[in-house]
Amino acid sequence: VENTPNTYSSTSTSNRSILPTDMISVQEARNLILEKFTRLEPILIPIVEAIDQVTAKDVIAKFDIPPHANTGMDGYAVKAEDTKEASFSQPKKLSVIGYLPAGKIFNSTVMSGQAVRIMTGAPIPMGTDAIVPFEETDEYREETNQNNKIKTEVLIDVKASVGANIRPAGEDIKKGTVVFKKGTILGPAQIAVLASLGLNSISVHRRPIVAVLSTGDELLNPGEPYINGKIYDSNSFGLAAQIKNFGGTPKILNIAKDTVESLTHLIRDGVENADFLITSAGVSRGDFDLVKTVLAKEGQIGFWTVQMKPGKPLAFGIFTKKSGVQVPHLGLPGNPVSAMLTFELFGRPAIFKMLGKINAWPRSLVNAITKDKIINTDGRRFYARVVIDETNETPTVSLTGKQSSGILTSMSKATAFAICPSDTTAIEVGQPCEVILIDRENNYYGESVSTLASEY
Ligand code: AMP
Ligand code: MG
Repeated sequence: VENTPNTYSSTSTSNRSILPTDMISVQEARNLILEKFTRLEPILIPIVEAIDQVTAKDVIAKFDIPPHANTGMDGYAVKAEDTKEASFSQPKKLSVIGYLPAGKIFNSTVMSGQAVRIMTGAPIPMGTDAIVPFEETDEYREETNQNNKIKTEVLIDVKASVGANIRPAGEDIKKGTVVFKKGTILGPAQIAVLASLGLNSISVHRRPIVAVLSTGDELLNPGEPYINGKIYDSNSFGLAAQIKNFGGTPKILNIAKDTVESLTHLIRDGVENADFLITSAGVSRGDFDLVKTVLAKEGQIGFWTVQMKPGKPLAFGIFTKKSGVQVPHLGLPGNPVSAMLTFELFGRPAIFKMLGKINAWPRSLVNAITKDKIINTDGRRFYARVVIDETNETPTVSLTGKQSSGILTSMSKATAFAICPSDTTAIEVGQPCEVILIDRENNYYGESVSTLASEY
């Protein structure tokens, strides 16, 4: 089951979870949705492309890193024993028998009274057991050596201890060790480690292809000339950007007209060519809301009223490809903010699960004090669009503007959602609230959220 795309475990195929339910909580909805997703099969890809993806196998070191003992400094490789009486006033003279840059091996064994001039990263010559940096020799004292001329003799100013400035073989990674367990999320440093192990590709759970379908006769594609009475489709693009941001590969389909034929055709196309289908609009009560009708005919479907605001109506179902592979479908509300919020709360965890990041989807939650009154009249869990200020010890939040579900600009200014529980009618100014940080690193709106940057 695990390696088959988009199948769901045979123990959870009962219809129970997608049958219509009265009013369910956000958490219940998320659990029912996540039950139908599984991580996708592994794929071997170039290491840089694997950023933020999850390893499908243990990564085992085939050799030591570093592969050979080497010098951590530019200097002279010596026998520590030879330097035991060396001091600045009575330096020890050694004869220089060679020069060793990084990437070369010194081919003979160093004898007592001898030294090899050596550069950072070069393997330690046989017979030597310490590196004396240039700074502790006469190297820098001589005008003649400013141009890197190779000396025939060197004066050692200090007593070197055995192992000084030597990086032992396997200091970082020992051959045979598990460097990354399967299930590791790859960041830039993990990718650097893979490269140090000589790997140029890595097996990770593949990214889901997520088809995005907007529905409605009123919709125009951005770029098209404006027509009176119409609006531009923003949902496809906001959702596609979220999909990309969460690690999926978005695929925007053509806009569906409010006809059974158009919708059926596009949904079938979407299902055949994706791992997950997202539609927006047409799930509320409206004369032209056909998504429900089409979905009920084409797939296994449930319609939920989720106890949240914005974004109450939600459809969730399963379609089956011609091949028999099953494709989950999430039918989001049409209002732009509702679509983005529901996708944040339900689509993000689903994509993370397909990527194999089972427990990584939750955002950071912080407690903050509100500077604006947050009003909640509907008895649903309200997610207020806010900007968070984390400059002071206790963060504060302020509303970003009008909170109705069609106001996209207040969404575009938000760096967080402040949660007003369903049983709370208002959070007064100065009162605490729980806040989901959706945008801690990227302050897209361009105003300074934090002054902490000045500290590093
Ligand atoms: P509906 O669910 O079809 O009743 O749509 C609810 C509201 O969302 C209506 O005002 C629609 O015009 C609007 N809407 C639906 N789809 C989109 C979209 N793709 N982009 C922008 N607004 C939309
Ligand atoms: Mg509509």
